[in-house]
Amino acid sequence: MAIKVLQLQKVRCFFAKGEYNPYTVDGARLIAHEFRHVAQYYEYGEVSFKALYLKQVAQFGYDNAPFEIQAYQFSEALFPPLSQ
Ligand SMILES: [Zn+2]
Repeated sequence: MAIKVLQLQKVRCFFAKGEYNPYTVDGARLIAHEFRHVAQYYEYGEVSFKALYLKQVAQFGYDNAPFEIQAYQFSEALFPPLSQ
């Protein structure tokens, strides 16, 4: 369902070659992460999302940008790291 919505809205996610394997937990986690960014995109609108994203990364760095933290928390809630 989510993928269908993405297609209807013409949102596309691009991955570097070899970065996305759909048949692994890491691949599912990556898609979940990107879906959270798509939700942010619609929550804030294209222009505001892009501006806020860049501002956050510049201000806090990639790892501490609030949009990134939200996306990582979302993907890890859906696909928690395996306990060791
Ligand atoms: Zn991200």
